[in-house]
Formats: sequence, structure tokens, C-alpha cells
Amino acid sequence: MTELGNRRNTTEIIQKYQFAFQKKFGQNFLIDSSILDKIIESADITKQDCVLEIGPGIGTMTQRLAAEAGEVIAVEIDRNLIPILHDTLADCDNVTLINEDILKVDINRLAQEHNGGRPIKVVANLPYYITTPIIMALFEKHVPLQSVTIMVQKEVADRMRVGPGTKDYGALSLAVQYYARPEIITRVPAACFMPRPNVDSTVIRLTRYEKPPVEVGDEERLFAIIRASFNQRRKTLANGLANAGGLGVSRAQVEEALMEMGLPPATRGETLTLERFAELSNLLAGEDV
Ligand code: SAM
Repeated sequence: MTELGNRRNTTEIIQKYQFAFQKKFGQNFLIDSSILDKIIESADITKQDCVLEIGPGIGTMTQRLAAEAGEVIAVEIDRNLIPILHDTLADCDNVTLINEDILKVDINRLAQEHNGGRPIKVVANLPYYITTPIIMALFEKHVPLQSVTIMVQKEVADRMRVGPGTKDYGALSLAVQYYARPEIITRVPAACFMPRPNVDSTVIRLTRYEKPPVEVGDEERLFAIIRASFNQRRKTLANGLANAGGLGVSRAQVEEALMEMGLPPATRGETLTLERFAELSNLLAGEDV
């Protein structure tokens, strides 16, 4: 088996199959084995684990995952990569390859079918254009997860960790911090990829909480409020939430809830912590959790 994760062997495979990189799929393949080592080590994979890899590319990380895990499910959108993957993964009998768009895959069903519904580990060098939707989908659809170890654009990793008072703070920060503990594993310079992207990257590990750090009566409502707050960032919470369709709250109700929280009526969502959003969500639902 040709070991990938270096420039020479990656170039050889690309040339052998005359593979043309597709920018629209965010194809930047890892060519640095020390970064691969760090990802695999931090994902802490054992033979008991079922791992979902999103976007295996030519199989660089898949080979390593297959060596460590009990089972690997690799979902790749680009059908031109499938014959290459059959070649590079020929010796790996614990990999299921699925040629699909991950955003259209029922990941809950995969976890059920391949791991009896027990928590899976997600590992990916993510195509940057789907980073936010895939993370939101994994958490909000309650995929049984242990951890998500992913390479993302450096700025996106920062967004997942920040709190109120920074321009990066938003719905992604709150969703990640509600469901998981984010930890930066390593920064990754653009030179570690082929072709070289325009941005630096970061490997971040999100370890799923067994129980979220705040209690809310209605999770969907909490996230509807968070989304509405950041969709209309410039507006006060009272205006933003009253204008948002579907929430069914008036400006006066929001102002009253804010008053109960000891906050001024002109408060903006970007100043609230996760705890404060939870409090607001419970008050607006008339719940006393
Ligand atoms: N894992 C490989 C590596 O580390 O070298 C490739 C990483 S590359 C940044 C992203 C991969 O995701 C590409 O192979 C791309 O074709 C695939 N991809 C892009 N969009 C996808 C989608 N919606 N669903 C599944 N795979 C996708």
C-alpha cells in the first residue's frame, strides 16, 4: 500500500489518475505526516471506535484511521476520487466508502447501522465551504457523538472558542459551546497542503458534553433565539426577536424578560453569554427550569 501524507506519493497518485483538483469541493490534500500524526493521536482512536471521515480525498487520513479504528465510514462527494480510493485503500477491509454529499447523508442512520447507535467519532480535514453547516447538523440533529476532530480555517476555529465582546462571537460559538468542549490541537500552515490554500488552518477537537453546561426547557427555542439574535446583529434583542418569524414573541415580552434578568431593554444579543441566552429562552417560554 502506498503510504500517502507526503508530497512525492500524493503527486504520484494525482498523476497516475490524472486527477484534476476541484476548487468547488475545497480540495486541499494533506501532505505532512506530522500533522496527520497529531490528528490521529488527538482523536484518540481505538479498535472499539467507529469513525466517520468526511471527505477522504485520496485516502491520506483514511489509511491511518483504518489502521487504528474498528471501522471507518468515509463519505466523499467527488466521484472522480472513488477509483483512487479503491486503489489507496485496497488493503483496508474495515472501510466503507460512500460516494455522497455529506450534507444529504442521514448520519444518525449511519451511526445506527454501523455502530448500533453508540457514539461515533468524526475526523475530517473539512472542505471549508461546509464547515459551519456540517458542525451545526452533527450537533443539532443529535448524532450520537463522542468527539469531532477537524481541520478548519483558523478563523473558524477561533469563532468556535470565543465569548461575547468579540466580532467573531456568533451562533457557531454558542452551538459549539452548548454541545462540546472545544480545544485547539495545532495550527497548520498552508504549506502542509496540495494545492496550497490561501489561508492557514487549525485542528480543533470538540468533545461532546454528556450534559450541556446550561439547562434549557426547549433546545430548539434556544437556538431559534440565538439565530434570530445574530441574523440581525445590529438590532436590539427586543427588535430582532420580535421581527423574527416563528418565535411568537413581542418586543414588550422580550423587554420584560430582559428586565427580569437585570438587563437594559436595548441589550444586543452579541453581549449575552450562553448562560444568559438560556435564561432568556426559559423566561420567554415561561419556564422555570
Ligand atoms: N481528507 C483529505 C486530506 O486530508 O487530504 C482531503 C481533504 S479536502 C480539504 C476535502 C475533501 O472533502 C475533498 O476530498 C472533497 O472532495 C470532499 N468534499 C467536499 N465537499 C464534500 C461534501 N459535501 N460531502 C463529502 N465530501 C466532500
